Amino acid sequence: MLQTTPNDPHAEIREEVAKLCARFPGEYWRKLDEVRGYPTEFVQALTEAGYLAALIPEEYGGAGLGLGAAAAILEEVQRQGCNGAACHAQMYIMGTILRHGSEAQKQEYLPKIASGELRLQAFGVTEPTSGTDTTSLRTFAKKEGDRYIVNGQKIWTSRAEHSDLMLLLARTTPRDQVAKKTEGLSTFIVDMRTVLGKGLTIRPIRTMMNHNSCEVFFDNMEVPAENLVGEEGRGFRYILDGMNAERLLIASECIGDAKWFIEKAVAYSKERVLFNRPIGQNQGVQFPIARAYAQMRAAEAIVHKGLAKFEAGVNPGEEANMGKMLAAEASWAAGEACVQTHGGFGFAEEYDVERKFRETRLYQVAPISTNLILSYLGEHVLGMPRSY
Ligand SMILES: Cc1cc2nc3c(=O)[nH]c(=O)nc-3n(C[C@H](O)[C@H](O)[C@H](O)COP(=O)(O)OP(=O)(O)OC[C@H]3O[C@@H](n4cnc5c(N)ncnc54)[C@H](O)[C@@H]3O)c2cc1C
Repeated sequence: MLQTTPNDPHAEIREEVAKLCARFPGEYWRKLDEVRGYPTEFVQALTEAGYLAALIPEEYGGAGLGLGAAAAILEEVQRQGCNGAACHAQMYIMGTILRHGSEAQKQEYLPKIASGELRLQAFGVTEPTSGTDTTSLRTFAKKEGDRYIVNGQKIWTSRAEHSDLMLLLARTTPRDQVAKKTEGLSTFIVDMRTVLGKGLTIRPIRTMMNHNSCEVFFDNMEVPAENLVGEEGRGFRYILDGMNAERLLIASECIGDAKWFIEKAVAYSKERVLFNRPIGQNQGVQFPIARAYAQMRAAEAIVHKGLAKFEAGVNPGEEANMGKMLAAEASWAAGEACVQTHGGFGFAEEYDVERKFRETRLYQVAPISTNLILSYLGEHVLGMPRSY
């Protein structure tokens, strides 16, 4: 068992989340993995316990907790061997509505999201042709009277089939008609229940892990004008506003994954006896685990610093980016050490190591890839010339 942080303000939350997760053991996730199913019961349990509404203010039916509490919830979910990817986005997407939505939108959506009546799990930003170059996205929303007509396509829209609402980023002014490429993009709340089959088509993509990610097509899809979030043309800024929270939360998940791998590897290394001694007595087995542990603790310290800054209202951009990159690398190093420690059994499904290994790999690519984090650090923190 790894040591806990002294005076951890979230120790109680972690304990309760761990109890909830114990109801969803490896077998539950393995069965879903086989059929690429959605963990409905798990998401339901997290919702009923109020965890997915941790960041929604109390006046809208949520718990009104800080980002540190949300990070502790997601870290613990991963540490217990579960997979928060099924629902983590709800925690950070709703921040866009909270910060930039109208009072009517907040009243309409936040209480229902908090109670679980509505799921806001889908985030439609990435497109096949533009990828990381977000401002080149092509999906266009044209205003016609009291509605917008949306045409285009998204890719990797996770959980689209299991969400009621999607937060959509689309162009509302052509790129060649705006002074800056970041202008002319707008954010919408799409009620997918009303447009599915009527302008909205969702097609799941099979991926190396069970992530319920999809391609989404818009063909003259109608969105009421009242579903525009904030001001038209300022949507990119609204999405950027939520990114530090997103990165700190994903980093916390990676730290949880790293802890799971490390605990699993340590336990197995003590139990597996070969040549008349536990394999963990060999430094060749010990050192990669110890190294991954050091990487995880370093990443954790940066992430905690970022969370503290965020909660104090100070821009945590540097820590959110570094923390996300270092935590994703630490979880991968820990996963690698865990597979290696388990030898052949690392590949056997019943150990869950191979599943977690596949799952944690994602975070070096999504929601932002490592190169883009390095370019943020190079340009915005170190002041080197812009590369794009
Ligand atoms: C399982 C999964 C779930 C996802 N869920 C969502 C979701 O819910 N919503 C959503 O909107 N998106 C989602 N994404 C998309 C994800 O955010 C992108 O895959 C990611 O941002 C990378 O974009 P891309 O795949 O288009 O790669 P590309 O942009 O094509 O980049 C390919 C590679 O080139 C590198 N690269 C590109 N430009 C540069 C540069 N200028 N300098 C250096 N390196 C560069 C990148 O770092 C990357 O390694 C998901 C992706 C996956 C795989």
